[in-house]
Amino acid sequence: MFRELLVFAAFFGSLYSKSIPNLKWSYTNGTEVWKEDFKENCAGKKQSPINILSHETENAADDLPPFKFSDAFKKDISDVNLTNNGHSLMVSLDGVNDHDLTISEGGLEGEYKLSMIHFHFGEGNNSGSEHTIDNIQSPAEIHFVCTSDSFEKGEMGKLAVLSFLVKAPSLADEKFNILQHISVFDTGEKTELPAFSLSSIIPLDNSHFMERYYRYQGSLTTPKCDEIVVWTIFIHPLYISYEEYEKLQVGLTEDGDKLVNNFRQVQPLNGRKVLRSVSHVHRR
Ligand SMILES: [Zn+2]
Repeated sequence: MFRELLVFAAFFGSLYSKSIPNLKWSYTNGTEVWKEDFKENCAGKKQSPINILSHETENAADDLPPFKFSDAFKKDISDVNLTNNGHSLMVSLDGVNDHDLTISEGGLEGEYKLSMIHFHFGEGNNSGSEHTIDNIQSPAEIHFVCTSDSFEKGEMGKLAVLSFLVKAPSLADEKFNILQHISVFDTGEKTELPAFSLSSIIPLDNSHFMERYYRYQGSLTTPKCDEIVVWTIFIHPLYISYEEYEKLQVGLTEDGDKLVNNFRQVQPLNGRKVLRSVSHVHRR
């Protein structure tokens, strides 16, 4: 139990460390059972992830300007670990005070602090992402989870998640050096990462990439599915090599199974609008 608490606290960050989970959850029996096990939120009307139909998104170019990232995104970060929390591989940036990784603008209210990065991925090369665009699933999805002090706990907007869909062709630049250092590891274990800069993962200087995104209001994609997330899904994907993609698949779940396919089934929109930051979407 103690280890579960630790894992839980690490996963949701200090924000939720006072909540104690009553029920275990996993991806093994499908994710729709969460609606029974965690009724309060997982059966709600503003759930994530969703399928984004690009032709049904609304042009909100005037309200969704480029994001502003603090200088720390371009500097090396050291003393951080990649942790297997049993549900994902994650890099916690909470409690590392001198990082000062803040994000603002981009249609967000106030300033958010990057607290954690984690990965959703599959086993083959065509499924693994949580969000889908025009019904197409990507091999992986990276979530940058950011928190705000301007919102109350439990309030929509308390979290902003920046989501990057990932494609994994057989040939691609090897950008994810941080993945080279992982070997098979169990739930609860961590690997210390070499110093790396976040701009080596996301193309901060590429305005064509960074200024094109979708926006909607939704939830955490894991129990307890709190409806507090302002979602940003970048329209263009990141590319990692297939070799790097396979590196994501080295963890084991708490039950000793291979940690893969850690994505939730897409949820109904229930009338929510999906906005886009550009007047036209050029299909990939
Ligand atoms: Zn996630």
